[in-house]
Amino acid sequence: MNIDTFTLNNGVELPGLGFGVFQTAPEETVAAVQEALRVGYRHIDTAAAYGNEREVGEAIRRSGLDRSDVFVETKIWISDYGLDQTLHGFDKSAAKLGLDQIDLLILHQPLTTAFERTIGAYQALERLLADGKVRAIGVSNFLPEDLDRLLDATSVVPAVNQIEIHPYFRQTELLAKNAEHGILSQAWSPIGGITFYPGYGKGPSTLENPAIADVAAAHEKSPAQVMLRWHLQQGRSAIPKSVTPARIAENFDVFDFELTDAELAAIDSLDQKVRRGPEPASMTLESAGFPVPEA
Ligand code: NDP
Repeated sequence: MNIDTFTLNNGVELPGLGFGVFQTAPEETVAAVQEALRVGYRHIDTAAAYGNEREVGEAIRRSGLDRSDVFVETKIWISDYGLDQTLHGFDKSAAKLGLDQIDLLILHQPLTTAFERTIGAYQALERLLADGKVRAIGVSNFLPEDLDRLLDATSVVPAVNQIEIHPYFRQTELLAKNAEHGILSQAWSPIGGITFYPGYGKGPSTLENPAIADVAAAHEKSPAQVMLRWHLQQGRSAIPKSVTPARIAENFDVFDFELTDAELAAIDSLDQKVRRGPEPASMTLESAGFPVPEA
C-alpha cells in the first residue's frame, strides 16, 4: 500500500499525513504552517471554527510553493449549516484562505438536532463540487447512523470522514462503516492529543503508554512517530498538530520504518473504547453555534 498518498473515492489524491492547526493561535499559525511546509507536509487541515484560515493562507503564499502542490482542507461550522448559509460559508473560508478553490471541504459535525440543516449544508457541498469550487467533499464526527441519514438524502458519497482515532479510541465499527462506503477515515487527535489536553484528558496519555514506548524503542523512533505510522499503515489519513518546530519535523519523519503486524496488533489492543472528545450529538446550535466572522 502507498501510505504517502491516498486516492479518494472521486480519484483526487490526498497526501495521507497532513498538518492540523486546531488550537493553534492565529499569531502562531503562520510560523507553524510555514515550518510544516518547509519540512515536507503538503496537506493542511484547518476549519472555519479555528479562526486561523487567514494565517494558513498567508503561510502557503509565503512558502513559495505552487498552489497545486498544497492540499488544503477546511470545515464548515454548524452555525453556517443550510444550503444558502453553507454556500456563503464557502465564500467566507475561500476569502480568508485567499483561494479560489478548496481541495477538501467537510462538514465539521453532524447537527443531530436539526439534521435537515445538515442535509442542506451537504447539498451545498455537492453544488460546490459540481461547480469546481472544491475538489472533494466530506464530513467529520459522523457516526454510522449519521452516515446512513446522509447517504439516504444526498447523492455524492463523502470522500472523507474525519473522526477521533488514537490508540485508546479506535472506533472499529465506524472505520468498517466508512470502508464499506469507500469513505477514507481520517484521524483527528492521531497521537492522542485529546487524551492529555487540559479539560479533556482522562487518565494517562497515549504518549506515555508503555506498550507504545516499547515499539518506539525497538525502532529508535518516538511514541508519536509510532502512532502516526500505525494510522498510515492501516490506511488512515492522520493530521497531527504542533506549534513546536522539532515536533513538526519529528511527526513528518515517519517514512523510513515499518511496524510489524504484531506491533500493529499490540497497539490495536490498547483500545479502551472511551471517547475523549465531545459526543457528536451534543453539538447543538444552542450550545456551540457561535457565528463564524465574515472576515
Ligand atoms: P494531536 O494528536 O495532533 O496532538 C497535538 C498535541 O500533541 C499538542 O499538544 C502538541 O503540542 C503535542 N505534540 C505534537 N507532536 C508531538 C510530539 N511529537 N511529541 C509530543 N507531543 C507532541 O491532537 P489534535 O487534537 O490537535 O488533533 C490534530 C488535528 O486534528 C487538529 O489540529 C485539527 O486539525 C484536527 N482536529 C479535528 C477535530 C474535529 O472535530 N474534526 C477535533 C480535534 C482535532 P505542541 O503544539 O505544543 O507541540
